[in-house]
Amino acid sequence: MIRVLKRMVGLTSTTTTIIFECRRCGTCFSSDEESCTECGTSSIVKYKI
Ligand SMILES: [Zn+2]
Repeated sequence: MIRVLKRMVGLTSTTTTIIFECRRCGTCFSSDEESCTECGTSSIVKYKI
């Protein structure tokens, strides 16, 4: 999943991007959500890419 995220953001970017991803359904957020907008779980993981 991280490879997919990097492709979405662009590998040439030099700035650190923080991505939040739902652990249950894999939905990605660019902001820190308290719960997944798709499935409602609060199990969100944070990636710095
Ligand atoms: Zn979800």
